Amino acid sequence: MNLRTAFSLATFGIVVLPTSAHKSTFEGYKVYQIEVGSNHEASLKSRLQELPIIELSHSHGHGGASTLDIAVPPEHLEAFDALNFTAAILSEDLGADIAAEGPLGPYPAFDDFGIPGLSWFDSYHAYEDHIRYWADLHSAFANNSELIQAGVSFEGRPIQGIHLWGSDGRNSKPAVFFNGNVHAREWITSMVVEYLLYQIVTGYENDTIVRAALDNYDFYVLPIVNPDGFVYSQTNYRLWRKNRQVRDNTTEVGTDINRNWSVGFGGDGSSSSPGSETFSGYAAGDTPECAALMEFAQVLAADKGIKLYIDWHSYAQVILLSYGYTCDDFPPNIERQIDLAAETAARIAQPYNTTFDYGPGCIVLYQSSGNGRDYMTDAAGTEFGWGIELRSTSYGFVLPAEQILPSGQEIWEGMKYLWANM
Ligand SMILES: [Zn+2]
Repeated sequence: MNLRTAFSLATFGIVVLPTSAHKSTFEGYKVYQIEVGSNHEASLKSRLQELPIIELSHSHGHGGASTLDIAVPPEHLEAFDALNFTAAILSEDLGADIAAEGPLGPYPAFDDFGIPGLSWFDSYHAYEDHIRYWADLHSAFANNSELIQAGVSFEGRPIQGIHLWGSDGRNSKPAVFFNGNVHAREWITSMVVEYLLYQIVTGYENDTIVRAALDNYDFYVLPIVNPDGFVYSQTNYRLWRKNRQVRDNTTEVGTDINRNWSVGFGGDGSSSSPGSETFSGYAAGDTPECAALMEFAQVLAADKGIKLYIDWHSYAQVILLSYGYTCDDFPPNIERQIDLAAETAARIAQPYNTTFDYGPGCIVLYQSSGNGRDYMTDAAGTEFGWGIELRSTSYGFVLPAEQILPSGQEIWEGMKYLWANM
């Protein structure tokens, strides 16, 4: 907002909150990928602790090569260089990437199905427009869907989405349960989940694979399970990850909803410190978002059971199987899971050669305790409790808008295979 606008609005007695004045632009921030190499991650992080860097992602690739991606503010670049890490530059200017990500898009015109056409996937969108989009999907598919609400976020936003079913009617089949955008900054996740919804709604009539999937499973899809964080990532701080929960005796805001589940709660790969990006909370389920999701999962589990759970993330390009909380134990059906994940990854690679790794999360990515997929596997009887990290390892969280559609298309290929063969 410029001063002229502020002045003219003020003239008419309208109070304008200066949100844009506090919006972080990340101008001049550089993004590095540090080779962890023989350094232990803990010692590397302690050397970094002096600097106000932003932790983006870390990964244990195949062959044991570990990397840590971080963003460094311009005023600390010199101090970072002095630490002499072996590091590649992923971005020269994170602020420029965010500018290139494009403005939030307009609400598109309807296509022949009576819903916004594929141009929905040409840009990212404001939270309110996502809600409107789910309602429009439901209206276009009214006999086979309903809008659902799992609970309410810390700031009071409904955690909502859509339930779709096939020929045997509502609640007649085992569940496929999808959670998107649990991490606020992973904007591509809600867009890709919506692409899957769009394909189901528009394909059910004529596409035999879609019809079979929806006739075999009830789909419960919550595209944005962290609405407070998501809104904050759009209005104030693009790289926000956690929810927006405040707690007693600390000025730090936010708990990592994906460390707050009861299975493996508080173990390695989560933090008890409120300032950490992986702060688990003080007790399992003490975030309203995670409590609502656990309760919702229990209802599905007690009803027709959960066949497949996918928690959608970005940007490591990997299919994560259970477990995350331990590297030494595996679900009894792990070999079947690995076979399915391998072929799903092969199908994802078909359209654009995007490579997805796969395997137990603790082994292929990193240890994470109190996560959703482990809960689904151990506490909700889910046959396949998965997480999928979408593209892109080269762009990170700030994925250009022209990659939304390709990302959706490649995942759609993987999902069609998975749903028909699981
Ligand atoms: Zn994530």
